[in-house]
Amino acid sequence: MASLTPDTSMTYLKGVGPQRAQALAAELGIRTYGDLLQHYPFRYIDRSVIYGPGEALPGPAEIQIRGVLNQIQTQGGGAKKRLTAQLVSPGGSIELVWFKGLRWVEKSLLAGSEYVAFGRLTEFSGRKSMAHPELETWASFEQSLSHGLFPVYSTTEKLSSMGLHSRGLSKLVQSLLADLPAAGQDWLPEGIWRPAGWPPHLDALREMHFPQSATRLAAARERLAFEEIFLDQLVFAYKRRSHATQLGGLVFQAVGSYFHHFYAQHLPFELTGAQKRVLKEIRKDTASGLHMNRLVQGDVGSGKTMVAFMALLIAMDNGYQGCLMAPTEILAQQHYQGLLGYAESLGIRIGLLTGSVKTAARKVLLNDLATGQMHLLVGTHAVLEDPVVFHRLGMAIVDEQHRFGVAQRAKLRAKNDPAPHILVMTATPIPRTLAMSLYGDLDLSVIDELPPGRQPVQTVHRTDHNRLKVWGFLGDQIALGRQVYIVYPLIEESQKMDYKDLMDGYESICRDFPRPQYEISIVHGRMKSADKEWEMGRFVRGETHIMVATTVIEVGVNVPNASVMVIENAERFGLSQLHQLRGRVGRGADQSYCILMTGDALSEDSQVRVETMCRTNDGFEIADVDLQLRGPGDVMGTRQSGMLEYKVANLGQDQKLIEWAREKAQDLVQRDPSMHAPEHSGLRMRFTDYARNKMAWGHIA
Ligand code: ADP
Ligand code: MG
Repeated sequence: MASLTPDTSMTYLKGVGPQRAQALAAELGIRTYGDLLQHYPFRYIDRSVIYGPGEALPGPAEIQIRGVLNQIQTQGGGAKKRLTAQLVSPGGSIELVWFKGLRWVEKSLLAGSEYVAFGRLTEFSGRKSMAHPELETWASFEQSLSHGLFPVYSTTEKLSSMGLHSRGLSKLVQSLLADLPAAGQDWLPEGIWRPAGWPPHLDALREMHFPQSATRLAAARERLAFEEIFLDQLVFAYKRRSHATQLGGLVFQAVGSYFHHFYAQHLPFELTGAQKRVLKEIRKDTASGLHMNRLVQGDVGSGKTMVAFMALLIAMDNGYQGCLMAPTEILAQQHYQGLLGYAESLGIRIGLLTGSVKTAARKVLLNDLATGQMHLLVGTHAVLEDPVVFHRLGMAIVDEQHRFGVAQRAKLRAKNDPAPHILVMTATPIPRTLAMSLYGDLDLSVIDELPPGRQPVQTVHRTDHNRLKVWGFLGDQIALGRQVYIVYPLIEESQKMDYKDLMDGYESICRDFPRPQYEISIVHGRMKSADKEWEMGRFVRGETHIMVATTVIEVGVNVPNASVMVIENAERFGLSQLHQLRGRVGRGADQSYCILMTGDALSEDSQVRVETMCRTNDGFEIADVDLQLRGPGDVMGTRQSGMLEYKVANLGQDQKLIEWAREKAQDLVQRDPSMHAPEHSGLRMRFTDYARNKMAWGHIA
């Protein structure tokens, strides 16, 4: 074998003819040696645990049973035709069954020989049987018993019928590994992997497929996961560096009178420690001469707006304009209204630009922006449009990052030359490591502290048996002058049923809380928007006591007097949705409550979700649990998940590795940006290759 590389075609491998090669490519995307080596086992079986036919129990796990094979016979005819055999030991027997490939299987079986059967044991009319087991003679099994753990590979029916079931695949991998040189491919700098106690690259690969022990497997897995993550973090580190140096430049020399005057005279409260810290980080960026590209995460109510406003003041102190962008018209208006008073008292001219600003007014506004007479612009996407030209835009802030893409950020950057500093703010907590992997080109700040005096929402779990008591509690709260939300799920797949649930619920609530003592609003997606607004308006003005709704109220509603959130069928909501819904209460001075109503029987996941909600109000903790439960793809939505598909690494579990990889990457880019040090030569080649592919994909996507 002259030149064995990861790109070598599978057809060169012993035991792979043209047919198998084609099927491997079509079914599993395995075309090269590298592909096969990266088709890692999805789990392992402990080979040392072998049952006798008499002691094995039916169950969902795949197990190994040892016995002597006999009574091989074909039974039935037509579609019911099958091959059966008995696996026997003195303690009992099980039946082995095949429905496909009968002739081939029958030929390969040796009656009277001792075998190990591998598969799932089921029980059918009192008879234990195993369908389509993988069989290995005891003699051959015994020989390879030195391996502790035995790989299980995912495969397909078609491949299985060609002998490439899990065992078949493992044989291929085994012969490939035997052909590999003893060492090589260690592109990761030794200074990283040796101290970590990881094996060399090729050993790690071997260990992944045929682990000698669980500990060695763990070390191997860690190394390969780190390799995947590290390459991405290097891409990010270079991106951050080039953003900062190429686009860099806007230097805000000093914090000036707008900021100081505001801080001393108008700031209505003491900033929290977290707000101060984040402002310091922003200040440091903007004074550094590098371009700021920062993500601020802060839970609902953590006071992001004030941080944004004060950051904008620094820009204006240095003679630049500022801009604050929100995802919806309502939010943009809210920001504008909220900041108008401060701006006026400071002598700052502030404007609002949304889709509904009329032509004449827009003309004036655009003119004032272009001449620099307007200092601060608040708006929606409308801000990004081409006719919007700034005189000197120094800082752009984007609220609710998750609705803005990379393209929009690029448009903002293009609004000034050199680019304005960019700050994105999000209230949807993303676990730190996920943020590092998704928004790795941004620096990260976290506002992890709520303003003082907020009473955390008390969350409880109740079932239908408690409904009378819950209703009684609602009555008490209403008697105290509070208002109540009752939310029903409306999931697209089961819309009809959900809608019926909602209407049934509404009717019974109307019965239990009769007029004229109680007034009830209802809002759902099937209503005309004028009707929705009218109902919403009544609730906001305090004219109704109870708001029955679907999740349409998730965004943008602010009724400080509402103190109870009842969530019906809470088991059907995702964690982040539950957290967002709960965020609708606890906005006033009163103690607020969230009541999660569920049925009696909960799945394990639902139980974890409900318990998590009852245990904590911390959005980051909740986001972490969510990540553990659903995995990064589902948490971030499928569009972004493509970027997160690692073969070994798991963004939910490998948080330490991610942080570490980010540090190491940052460190390397600072110390040896051209990777010219001899110990980085392997890495330079590997990374060049990786980055080229990554960029190419990035452009296509
Ligand atoms: P979010 O982070 O969700 O955007 P906001 O900026 O809307 O939060 O702030 C929520 C509320 O908290 C506002 O009424 C704001 O005035 C108030 N607030 C912000 N910072 C503080 C603080 N340090 N102390 C007291 N109240 C604050
Ligand atoms: Mg906000």
